[in-house]
Formats: sequence, C-alpha cells, structure tokens
Amino acid sequence: MQRRDFLSGAGVAALLPLGAAQAADLPAIRWRLASSFPKSLDIIYGAAETLARRIAALTAGKFQIRVFAGGELVPGLQVLDAVGNGTAECGHSAGYYYVGKNLALAFDAAVPFGLTARQQNAWMYAGGGIEALRRLYAKYNVVQFPGGNTGAQMGGWFRKPIKSLADLKGLKMRIPGIGGQIMAKLGAVPQTLPGGDIYPALERGAIDAAEWVGPYDDEKLGFHKIARHYYYPGWWEGGPQLSFYVNQTSWQGLPDAYRQAFEVAAAEANQLMLAQYDAKNPPALLRLVGQGVQLHAYPKDVMLAARRATFALYEAEAKTNPDFAAIYRDWKTFRDTAFQWFKVNEAAYSNFNYFVK
Ligand code: CA
Repeated sequence: MQRRDFLSGAGVAALLPLGAAQAADLPAIRWRLASSFPKSLDIIYGAAETLARRIAALTAGKFQIRVFAGGELVPGLQVLDAVGNGTAECGHSAGYYYVGKNLALAFDAAVPFGLTARQQNAWMYAGGGIEALRRLYAKYNVVQFPGGNTGAQMGGWFRKPIKSLADLKGLKMRIPGIGGQIMAKLGAVPQTLPGGDIYPALERGAIDAAEWVGPYDDEKLGFHKIARHYYYPGWWEGGPQLSFYVNQTSWQGLPDAYRQAFEVAAAEANQLMLAQYDAKNPPALLRLVGQGVQLHAYPKDVMLAARRATFALYEAEAKTNPDFAAIYRDWKTFRDTAFQWFKVNEAAYSNFNYFVK
C-alpha cells in the first residue's frame, strides 16, 4: 500500500474517534438512562455519567445519554423492568436487586462466598460469564454489560460486638438479598432498608446492626457515631458488580459505531469504579479508626455456618431453578479453580506483605 493511500484510507480512520465527516453520516440519538442509585453514592452513580460522557466524546456528540438518579424516572429497584419495557433505553443497576424474579440474576452482581472483583471480571470477560448472563437477561428483553465493582464490601456496623454464632440470635440487622436470607438461617432477623433510613433506625435501636458498602460510603452516612464495631469481611459481597442494561430493541437499532462506543465506555466505567474505591477506601478506613472505630473479624463459627448455609441454599435452588443450575455449575467450577490459583500465589504475596513484620 502506498503511504499516501494508507494515510487517507479507512485504516487510520478506524483508530480515531468519529471525525466530522463520518459523524455527519450517523444519526443523532438521545437515550435516557435510569440509575438505581442516588447521587450521594457518588462513585457508583458516577459510573453512568462516565459512560455517557465517553460515548458523547466518541461519537462527536451525536449519541447522547441523559442520566437520571434512582427515583427520578423510575424507582431504583424497577430499573430492570423499565429498561425491558422501553420506559428507558438503558439503565445502571445491580442484578441482585432482582432475585425476586430469578435468583440466577445474582450471579451478575454478587452471591455469598462468591468471586472477588478481579475474579468476577475474569469470569465475565474471559470465562463465559457475559455469555451465560446474556442468555438469562434475554428473557427480560435486556442486554447487560459489567458496569463497575466496589471490591469486597465490609461486614457491617454493630452496636455491640459479636463474639460467636450465639450472639446473632434475634439480632436485627439491615442486610438485604441472599446475605439476609443466610443471616436468617443463622438466627438473625434481617431487615431491608434503603440507605437514608438506616442511620435513624440504628440510632433509635430499631436495628442492632447494618451493612452498607465500605469505609468511603459508610463514613458519609455516619454509622460510626452510633455503632463503634465495624466487622469484616462482607462475605455476602466479595466483589459485587454493577451492570449497565440496554433494551434489546434499542441495542439492535444502534449503528455499529455507537455499539462499539457503548461497549468501550462501559468497560471504562467498570474499571474506573473499582479504581476509585481502591483509592478512596484506604484513607476513609484510617479516618474511621482514628475516630475510635473498632475493627473486628467475623467469628470463625459465624463464617463457617454462613458458608455451609450458603452452599446448601445454592444446591437446593439448582434442583428447582433450571436458569440457576445452568449458570451455577460452570460458575462453581470457575470459582473453585480460581480459588486454587489465587490461594497459591496472590494469597502468598498478600499475606507476606500485609502480615509479616
Ligand atoms: Ca452491601
């Protein structure tokens, strides 16, 4: 190929954002994105704005997505329905909000004793996770993309320390989803409360404990002022992933260049959220400890009982829910194999550096 031909040819153009000449050929498209999240969860909410900003930049401003916080367009927990029925062309949510429809949707977010953030990314992008979940989401008329990860969450705030499994009996804890179901099997009384209702309930003693996210988000809600005992790990959310949803018909109607822009912007938002949490949680934890917060590991008998109850629940679900079984078997093999690798090398590296003086 002549140098002149190469420079003027499609080879170079394909590497660049859409220039004015190509953008003129593509339609102006405006979408609405329904987020499940309040603006106060700035890192999580911000992933949708990252997506919208990058897509606009990659399409010379022709593909615009307007982000609506939870409750503005539809209630935060109705985003999957809203995208499926076309009320919004796209959304940002978490699969485990919809376990009432199908427990298998939790694999798109987090399940107790599941994958870390890194392992979730590995399963999604390179281990068959996206393909398996897209088969499931097709039933809801939605195409999904990984849309961020908080990293392992904390295990929650307790007014009094938990010394053993016996201390969970009758304990009222704000913990939604499958984690709440497992807590109930251990004798606790799980509650589902939205973020803004947790602090007053904990303050007046209507609940004894509450989990939220991790140091950066928890600090903003002020739990440390009324419950000093901060537990780890959040074994029900070892690497919870958020997701972008797109209505299937809207997706099929997009020009290919816009689909490419969406896909790459979603991947950027997915990566950026974990980076932000990994940068902001460490100083937040130091600030909390500096204010007298006491860190505790969950007692081993609690962890062991929780893990037993968790896998008993999965096995029972797999017997009655074909969608769950179809994902669970491969997911479990991926998880167990990943754990074998990570326990050899990553764990040795981490343990030495974090614990050996
Ligand atoms: Ca949580």
